[in-house]
Amino acid sequence: MTVFKSSSRDVPEIPDNMDLYTFMTEYYPDYRFDARGTGYALLIDEETGQKWTYEDTKERVDLLAIGLREKLGVEEDTVVAVFSANCVDYLVTILACHKVGAIVSCANPSFQPAELAYQLDASKATALFVGEEAQTEGIQAAEKAGMAKDHVIVMQTPKTCQAKGALNGGDRRIKDNAWALEGLVAEGKDLLASKGSSMLEKSRPKLGRGGNRKKLAFLSFSSGTTGLPKGVMIQHYAPIANVLQNCIFNEMKNPAQPGDRYEPGKDVSLGVLPFYHIYGLVVSLLFTFFSGITNVCIPKFKGIEAMIRTALKYRITLWWLVPPQVVLLVKDPSAKKYYSELRELVRFLMIGAAPLSDDLSGRLEAVLPGLDWGQGWGMTECCTVGTMHPPKTRAVFGSAGRLFPNVSGKVVNAEGKEVGVGEAGEFWIKAPTVTLGYLSNEKATEEMWLKDGWLRTGDEVKFNENGDMFIVDRLKELIKVKGFQVAPAELEGWILNHDDVADVGVIGLPNEESGEIPIAFITLSASAKESKKDVAEVKKSVKKFVAVNKIRYKHLGRVEILDAIPKTASGKILRKDLRVLAKELRAED
Ligand code: AMP
Repeated sequence: MTVFKSSSRDVPEIPDNMDLYTFMTEYYPDYRFDARGTGYALLIDEETGQKWTYEDTKERVDLLAIGLREKLGVEEDTVVAVFSANCVDYLVTILACHKVGAIVSCANPSFQPAELAYQLDASKATALFVGEEAQTEGIQAAEKAGMAKDHVIVMQTPKTCQAKGALNGGDRRIKDNAWALEGLVAEGKDLLASKGSSMLEKSRPKLGRGGNRKKLAFLSFSSGTTGLPKGVMIQHYAPIANVLQNCIFNEMKNPAQPGDRYEPGKDVSLGVLPFYHIYGLVVSLLFTFFSGITNVCIPKFKGIEAMIRTALKYRITLWWLVPPQVVLLVKDPSAKKYYSELRELVRFLMIGAAPLSDDLSGRLEAVLPGLDWGQGWGMTECCTVGTMHPPKTRAVFGSAGRLFPNVSGKVVNAEGKEVGVGEAGEFWIKAPTVTLGYLSNEKATEEMWLKDGWLRTGDEVKFNENGDMFIVDRLKELIKVKGFQVAPAELEGWILNHDDVADVGVIGLPNEESGEIPIAFITLSASAKESKKDVAEVKKSVKKFVAVNKIRYKHLGRVEILDAIPKTASGKILRKDLRVLAKELRAED
């Protein structure tokens, strides 16, 4: 029996008696850089130029928490959804909810209304923050899910409010009676002035020893090893632990010394990964704020050149990316002219959420020689990072890094045997960040969360003698497109509604640009056969059926018609067989 252990020192203490708001604003271990009173911006909005210092952020959180509680009745265990692109108020919103004990469920800001409504329903959200740009879809989804319109809050920053004359004019509500975030902040301010400082502490959750190990902070959606997206119950302890593991693994010091991987007060972080996703949320938002690192919030990835120009403008030194962005960085002609400037600027680049090929790794080293870069592995069910490329070492091609502090791993082969160095099998992880399971889905929870604390990941891996972990394959159904999750079951469920389709199986087709692209194998319905429908038309129509109803990265790259979908005796789709059939195929345009 082999248990792989982290070779990093453990986090000396992971506090288990506080919520995330308290952790971010009151917990100061000796290695935490203290950004209070420094006056520099910790959050900068790339589009509006809005900046929040530590104090601005804290004040807004406190005022918004009062507004949410007093005007919307948000309280202990209310679920609040956030449907917004990255912005400076993303963290403000989350921490304000936590301050009153609410649970936050973040959704992809490009979802179609039906996709968001599914999440609102499944999470039982009763309030919804929507980004300015996502207002129309957000309000439609809220309506679909039966949420009162005055429980929608539009996330306008003071800058955009000012531009529209909404600030100072007392316009606290916007169309359809929805609140402006600024309006709730103003309500909070008024209440604080009229009722006094008791407003600040009223109904703040009090967590005793061990209290944050059970109290939910987030409901993040993931399909796990099989089935539809499910709400992952993430307790406050998990992101707190992951932020501290990141500090300790990377030997964070206060003050940092030149050459350390992260230098709070000097480094600037690239906030381009979506904050709704666990990787963006915990690493590029929570960790940076905790560590006093300025975060430039980029609402939308508008191409590699635009991103590089933003990085140069704000002197962004710490980059967190997904592999498709690395493809563009090393291959897109528009990136080439910036390489020499980037060599000077970028200090650390972490890549995760999907595999990075050796070829791309080589090209990356060629264009940015000497860069401290590497991969990390994470998963929503494990409240993100479990392995990461260690500091002061050269990246090992193909490796997702080494186990984070306080983390153990096992490799379990197809026969259920725990295997050792060099042998492949499913990665099981035991970590302080392992979450509590799926909301209202005991069966799926029991399949992944094992009784003795191990979490099955559905990833096939092996370790080498140095403790470097390599992802060999993905055993679970999940498809990853540009780092985003696509659940085959969701697309299959939807495609079955198409009149010409009798049966369907969806798998991912490898693709350099996106990692994978979903493709569908279908069988024709009796009516489609009877009417002798043109198969090319059917394929086109199925593609369109998905395209008009689903977010872009779920769109089908291809549709193929079969006589029967290969299945096991118990009716499970044999995805391996579909993958064999797909080997010869390429995605169509
Ligand atoms: P998510 O919950 O959306 O973060 O997806 C988690 C899954 O992404 C993991 O179980 C892996 O299948 C995949 N993944 C994450 N990081 C990596 C990596 N560095 N290399 C390969 N696959 C990865």
